[in-house]
Amino acid sequence: MDDALFKAVEPGAPATGGRDLADLEAEAARALLHSREARDDLQAEMIGLYSTYAAAWRYGQERLAETPLASERRATRAELKQLRGLTERAAQAAIRQAYARQFGLGKRAGWNWRDTDAAEDKFLLRLRREEYVFVRRFLDDIEGGRVGMPIEQRAALYGNAGDEAFWWGFLYADQSSDRYLRWVVGEAEHCSDCRYLAGDLPPDDLAKYTNPNTVPLGGRWGVGVYSAQELALLGVVPQSGKLRCTTNCRCHLERATRPAGKPQARLQRTPFRSLEPKRVQPRYEQRRRRYDIRRVKRDTSLAKGLTDADVEAEAEADLLAVIVADLVELAEQAGAVDPPDPTH
Ligand SMILES: [Zn+2]
Ligand SMILES: [Zn+2]
Repeated sequence: MDDALFKAVEPGAPATGGRDLADLEAEAARALLHSREARDDLQAEMIGLYSTYAAAWRYGQERLAETPLASERRATRAELKQLRGLTERAAQAAIRQAYARQFGLGKRAGWNWRDTDAAEDKFLLRLRREEYVFVRRFLDDIEGGRVGMPIEQRAALYGNAGDEAFWWGFLYADQSSDRYLRWVVGEAEHCSDCRYLAGDLPPDDLAKYTNPNTVPLGGRWGVGVYSAQELALLGVVPQSGKLRCTTNCRCHLERATRPAGKPQARLQRTPFRSLEPKRVQPRYEQRRRRYDIRRVKRDTSLAKGLTDADVEAEAEADLLAVIVADLVELAEQAGAVDPPDPTH
């Protein structure tokens, strides 16, 4: 058979390294296990880094309180500043490694054995840069005494963040137009967004929210199944920052077949929006926006009278647009441009 007639990612195809179905499934299971290890590693690194910095900051403050000497105070402040810089860089390196590893494992779980290409590297860069902002916020909160829970606990939550990269990798692994995935909610958490996506949110609960999405409850077939391209357009995977539960999310994606019958709605071509959007402190939102936001028009002349919430919503929409543009670009590069839906 001519290679061009192969689906890009199916047993025996070049992207799988020629592996057969049994091999691909066994390796996908191993990738999932290794993803758990990668999460544990990132958690341990984050806990170590933040706890160490918190202790150093505490001692530094005690020393400052005890020393009236200006030269000693200056030296203490300089040491703290240097330590903060080192901590930040170490946390960024841990995130960079974890995200790359998780993304690769996610691709493997999706049967794609190819190393990341340039577009995927670029996507990973944006994903981790968003996470870097949270590193700064955590360090700021440590210095301001605003951590709000045991450091270890919050650091562990940050360590979960790499899981998102695994699911992005899984989604990117195969953007064929006939690939379908089911959003399955975890047993441990029940946030409205995840239950909505899985089709598991009772209508009474849904009625409490102003739903900013046109994609219906449980997707176009109502059963929590989406085409891979559709999820890419929605720009959402388990553990996504945009979900209400964020890194507490315990959902996963599973391979599925296209549900029978006609879809109940048209494709939503804009990113999924949380039913209960989180407020992001404008200070950090601005830092997020400062990062390279290519292909997204930035309105620098926001009209007076807009509330903080409006500005934040706009900033969030910008970031989402970048991610969607990336996903569409990836799909196009893979030769899997979304064909017209035959049912419309
Ligand atoms: Zn959730
Ligand atoms: Zn979830």
